[in-house]
Amino acid sequence: MVRRARRINRELAEVYPYAHPELDFRNPFELLCATVLSAQTTDLRVNQTTPALFAAYPTPEDMAAAVPEEMEELIRPTGFFRAKTKSLLGLSAALRDEFGGEVPGRLDDLVKLPGVGRKTANVVLGNAFGVPGITVDTHFGRLVRRWKWTDEEDPVKVEAVVADIFPKSEWTMLSHRVIFHGRRVCHARKPACGACPIAPLCPSYGEGETDPEKARKLLKYEMGGQPGQRLSPPADYPGKPAPALGAG
Ligand code: SF4
Repeated sequence: MVRRARRINRELAEVYPYAHPELDFRNPFELLCATVLSAQTTDLRVNQTTPALFAAYPTPEDMAAAVPEEMEELIRPTGFFRAKTKSLLGLSAALRDEFGGEVPGRLDDLVKLPGVGRKTANVVLGNAFGVPGITVDTHFGRLVRRWKWTDEEDPVKVEAVVADIFPKSEWTMLSHRVIFHGRRVCHARKPACGACPIAPLCPSYGEGETDPEKARKLLKYEMGGQPGQRLSPPADYPGKPAPALGAG
């Protein structure tokens, strides 16, 4: 199992050499806020919402002083905007008061911030601080169960199993690759098995569409010739940038 898992990771690295976090951000504070906003919505919707949010409140100090109703209006498109406004106000006040206006680079500190759980903390550590982290979101959990790396449902247990299979240096990129594959090919309801580059390594081949022609039509984002989720993707991203809010 371990050998096959590592092989899947190597293949995914060839398929998605450009894998990256799909939230737009320019600094740790923006990534932290964007990750909090990404609960229960798509990264695309967050990316379409954050330009106005960060233009209004570029620093934790600015955000902590925001008028709640004004912030609610700005982040309304991401859903659950009242609870998310509370989290952003709380975490920016904590950053201002307890961390000198900087996002801390330690898991123990991050998870104490309002609205910040282990998953959010790992995303921030891995992508803004270069600290290896495994992000077990819904895609990651589904795929590793399909690949029979584990049958655990609990994200913390999944994280522990995967941490034992791979060296730390792989953790962050492995997370991006697996999530990329889940969003593009190995979907929850209709995995595109017939167009899946790692089908020969997958014990769940056949769970989805195996007809190559039909499977190809299920591919998403750059794999399906569509725009990605980021309005400002990294330079090596082969797909098109996402449209701004209301632009399509
Ligand atoms: S073969 Fe099917 S189930 Fe396996 S990874 Fe590919 S799309 Fe997912």
